[in-house]
Amino acid sequence: MTTPVSYLPFCHICNKPVNLDFAKTDEAGKTVHEGCYLLTLKTQPTISPKSNNALKEHHRTFRK
Ligand SMILES: [Zn+2]
Repeated sequence: MTTPVSYLPFCHICNKPVNLDFAKTDEAGKTVHEGCYLLTLKTQPTISPKSNNALKEHHRTFRK
């Protein structure tokens, strides 16, 4: 007996069915894979000097 895929919640990050054994709920209450959730934590946008420079560059270009 197998669980129908349609019964499974879909991962909010990769849009694939989540096996409940690996399901996790993020801050917004969305079902995600535990692995996907950890991935988002690692890739959270952080303000770094490099990205700040890129932003200034963008504004300078925009003003022209
Ligand atoms: Zn996922």
